[in-house]
Amino acid sequence: HRVVVAVDGPSGSGKSSVSRAAAEQLGFDFLDTGAAYRALTWLGLERGIDLDDADAVAALLPEFEATYRIALRPAERWVYVAGTDVTEAIRTTELSRRVSAVARVPRVREALNRTFRRVLAEGDAPGAIAEGRDVTTVVAPDAAVRILLTADESVRIERRAAERAGEDRVAVAASVSQRDAADRRVVDFIEPAPGVRVLDSTRLDVRQTIGAMVELIRE
Ligand code: C5P
Repeated sequence: HRVVVAVDGPSGSGKSSVSRAAAEQLGFDFLDTGAAYRALTWLGLERGIDLDDADAVAALLPEFEATYRIALRPAERWVYVAGTDVTEAIRTTELSRRVSAVARVPRVREALNRTFRRVLAEGDAPGAIAEGRDVTTVVAPDAAVRILLTADESVRIERRAAERAGEDRVAVAASVSQRDAADRRVVDFIEPAPGVRVLDSTRLDVRQTIGAMVELIRE
């Protein structure tokens, strides 16, 4: 029986790096759900479609579903779509700014959720950690452990700015706030759903946060 762990949180909360490291320590699979929304956005930009046109975005789904591949071992890090390695391309500031438009299309969310649930059910590691915005509430509401990873907005902005050394700090702050505001119109990931444990990393460093997450999972 595979242990499923669901982790949600806003951008810059560190949920991706922390969940990946926790999965590695526990020998679990790791599923970054945001990478799928990013890869679909990349495909839309590549095909030159209008990302605000929900029908055009939904029309990408068959090709996306047939070609989307992502590493599940936490030590590996690759994402493919349409036969292209998009591991780096899906992390740009420009693409990050466009994902919310794609993520708000209900048909997109339904299709991606089906893919996530299949991956979570199928892997052969003893457990899997999935992270995103709606994993604790929609993708895997019956996960054995559900965690909301939070941090004060100013701290999240600082962390993003440190990741993006060289980029304008004010622009980084604006992009974190705007993306949170846009995403919150789709799913609420700030208020924990009943039964979801809150892990606040505002005053913790990365190593302490990973330790606290592993603790919650082992409990
Ligand atoms: O987590 P990450 O920043 O990679 O997510 C990129 C975008 O994908 C988010 O800003 C959000 O619009 C969307 N997303 C989502 N639901 C998820 C994961 C990501 O809507 N479970």
